[in-house]
Amino acid sequence: MSHGRPINPDTTIVRHSGDVLHRALDVDLCVIGAGISGTTTALEAARLGKTVAIADSLPALGGQAVNSIIGTFCGLYRNGTHGHRLTFGIVDEMLAYLERHDACYYRHGPTTTVVHYNEIALSRWVETALDAAGVIPVTGAILRSVETEGRRVNAARLVTRYGDVTIRAEGFADCSGDAALTYLAGYACREPDEKVYGSQQAVVEGINLDAEPPQREELAARIAEKAEAYGLIRKNGLMFYFPGKEVAVMNMTHVETPLDPLEASKTSAIGKDQVDRGVRLLRDEFPQVFGNIKVRSYGFPGIRQTRWIKAKHHLVVDEVVNQVKFDDAIGRTSWPIELHNAPEGFVWEVFDEDHVHYIPFSAMISPEADNLVAVGRCIDGDPAALSSVRVMGPCMAQGMAAANALDLAGAGSVHQIDIGMLQARVSDNLNRSDGVAP
Ligand SMILES: Cc1cc2nc3c(=O)[nH]c(=O)nc-3n(C[C@H](O)[C@H](O)[C@H](O)COP(=O)(O)OP(=O)(O)OC[C@H]3O[C@@H](n4cnc5c(N)ncnc54)[C@H](O)[C@@H]3O)c2cc1C
Repeated sequence: MSHGRPINPDTTIVRHSGDVLHRALDVDLCVIGAGISGTTTALEAARLGKTVAIADSLPALGGQAVNSIIGTFCGLYRNGTHGHRLTFGIVDEMLAYLERHDACYYRHGPTTTVVHYNEIALSRWVETALDAAGVIPVTGAILRSVETEGRRVNAARLVTRYGDVTIRAEGFADCSGDAALTYLAGYACREPDEKVYGSQQAVVEGINLDAEPPQREELAARIAEKAEAYGLIRKNGLMFYFPGKEVAVMNMTHVETPLDPLEASKTSAIGKDQVDRGVRLLRDEFPQVFGNIKVRSYGFPGIRQTRWIKAKHHLVVDEVVNQVKFDDAIGRTSWPIELHNAPEGFVWEVFDEDHVHYIPFSAMISPEADNLVAVGRCIDGDPAALSSVRVMGPCMAQGMAAANALDLAGAGSVHQIDIGMLQARVSDNLNRSDGVAP
């Protein structure tokens, strides 16, 4: 036997015939977008016995949670240093996986508890959990058009580098963040009147563990003072540390996130340049701790808000502030108003320890469609209201509700389901009051 030489020297000659390779899938639920919202929706639906396909334009699963290196689960816990968890279900399994792999850290801050995580471990959880649940992944697949018949979506047509894929389903979940499914179906959507900035996240390595890292206020004050000198657009920033590890997730930039394809393509380079400037500032200003840091990985551009559905209910910030408990509430959170609407900073309005606000199911459904539910970044609310309900804790609660609502609707309409039955299925996410983080 010879090594390095082909055993069979024959090859196959191919020539494009003009026909595009076309694959078709027929499932109970088609999920567009495989971020934390899509992943939760797909897993919850699979647990209900549904056949599920999940499609994403990236060649990998996990959406922004993985690929933009968000790095922290927010909005999962009630306020206070040791508030209890507010969302249950798939999130229990995800946290257990991350704990088993020494890949998360519960930080009991003064406002609330957040969960910092390793994005590589999270990506493996997403992939293995979806695979174990029998969910069919369709990656590198961009939604190109949507086939509708009146109030029903019949099929999603996607293009991939290898050919086209059509997914036919009884129910559809728009977990695309940009309301791509709802928009292409021709149903009404909204775009913001004022800019909501995204951020370029990065993981830095080389933190000196023998020195004390600056805490949030000190870091923010120094960045505010020096940002202009380093050419930083945003004049505040955050570092998410992992005790005992010489890495941190850096969130110090603001970058516009336009919907124009050519403008959008420029944002990655702008974001990375902002990260590099931030690293220089940190090295110079905190030489003891950060003198040797360098970027280990840049995330894909982080997008907060672009386009979202015009739903039956438009959640407004007063309803968030006043803790309105909607008749059709399906999830809750205590997360502050976190509105990134200015280049230099963001609105950060923290609620008190007793505060909990709710997400109505009617903010997730288009009045024009019967078998379509939106989840995550593209549910309906004003920018301030959305800023507090699109963090990942409430996204997971919405995913659980979407899967159950579409299951209850079956071949009928999500507008006609028994809301009491839906609430009974997601009652932990409305009522449970245990689960303080370790
Ligand atoms: C920089 C930044 C920092 C943040 N920090 C935090 C934080 O610390 N903690 C927290 O909890 N939340 C944070 N958030 C908010 C949170 O990360 C997001 O709101 C959340 O991840 C949204 O999840 P999603 O699944 O709804 O959307 P995404 O994760 O955006 O997933 C949408 C998916 O849909 C796919 N898609 C879009 N269009 C198409 C199409 N046409 N065809 C096919 N696929 C498509 C995309 O590729 C993407 O993977 C942050 C957000 C940003 C941008």
